[in-house]
Amino acid sequence: MTDRLYYRDSFLYDFDAEVAEVPQLKRAAIILDRTAFYPTSGGQIFDTGTITLGDTTLRVSEVADTEDGRVVHYLDAPLKDVKPGSRIHGQIDATRRRDHMQQHSGQHVLSAAFIRLYDMHTVSFHMADDYCSIDLDTPGLTKEQIEAAERLANEIILENRAVDIRFVNREEAAQLGLRKVPVADRDELRIIDIRDVDISACGGTHVNQTGQIGCILLRKAERVRQGWRVEFVAGQRAVATARRDYTTLTEAAALFSAHIYDVPQQAAKSLEEIRMLRKQREQSQEDLAAAQAAAILAETSESNARKIVVRTFSDRDMNSLKLLAQKLTRLAPNAIALLATNSPQPSLVFAQSTGQPFDMSALLKQAISKLGGRGGGSKDMAQGGVPTPDSLEAALNDVATTLNS
Ligand SMILES: [Zn+2]
Repeated sequence: MTDRLYYRDSFLYDFDAEVAEVPQLKRAAIILDRTAFYPTSGGQIFDTGTITLGDTTLRVSEVADTEDGRVVHYLDAPLKDVKPGSRIHGQIDATRRRDHMQQHSGQHVLSAAFIRLYDMHTVSFHMADDYCSIDLDTPGLTKEQIEAAERLANEIILENRAVDIRFVNREEAAQLGLRKVPVADRDELRIIDIRDVDISACGGTHVNQTGQIGCILLRKAERVRQGWRVEFVAGQRAVATARRDYTTLTEAAALFSAHIYDVPQQAAKSLEEIRMLRKQREQSQEDLAAAQAAAILAETSESNARKIVVRTFSDRDMNSLKLLAQKLTRLAPNAIALLATNSPQPSLVFAQSTGQPFDMSALLKQAISKLGGRGGGSKDMAQGGVPTPDSLEAALNDVATTLNS
């Protein structure tokens, strides 16, 4: 078993130890007789730092627990001339450790706040590099409850309550009314006692006074399988997150030339304008297509009692092509529309007025198969695309000739 120095002092950032074992793993690693490095466990992520042997200093990139209670320090390179008994010096990354203490102690305070206010119990805690979350055992969670728990948690932080570490046996633990009693075979339990707020069995690194948490900011809340998940950030992370939020909001506000608090209103207004303009544009396109269709039909003479319209446009999308075909075949009872566009996508639309005898889908497939394209549709309306606009016009004329013969 490794002697865990962080159990008694979370602010111990450097220490001397003896190498207990050099395990033969895929990654370079050492096990010490004692360590201040925290291994990932109980929802809290590992410490990083350095280990120095003689004049060699190596990074500790990850720290993990073994099943039999030893702590493995993974190094970013193998340590030369290391053997059991070698003396090393360990140094913890203090900024990262302080951040973890703020998040983890913040979690204890927040979990206690949800219990005190709403009897909502925390069933799990997760710490990541950017944010933390707790899962609450509750069927529902309102915005007001989130804000009230955040306020109470911050009040507990401001009260600067003492956070004590104690070791008790299971019998003593039963008397304490722990928030959560761990399932373990050990008799001795490590207790984190936030005075008159929370008593939990926990192996994590914690602040000495709640004031050191700084502050806590609740963010996203979402339903999860066993209840509600609440994301939060504490201490410097809360400040960094608020800073990032403000920067983002400021950028958004600049786009609208508005105050940051008016951004939602301005965005809603813009979206409504877009919706209206889209509707107006659709109406205009309809009107334009109808006017164009009428003009085209007026200048197209009949042959065999039909008006065959053949047009190739240089810049139209498929939708406006279809719209024009629709208007042509509805405005006249005897129209055949053979339309194409060269760009943005070389495409064709064939359509006929209801009651006309041809099969537009078959005609279109026949025309584009020669051009290497694909398409289809119904007897009265078909559409398709071809790889290049070359020969599109000639293909339309071929079809028109067939229809006239
Ligand atoms: Zn804990």
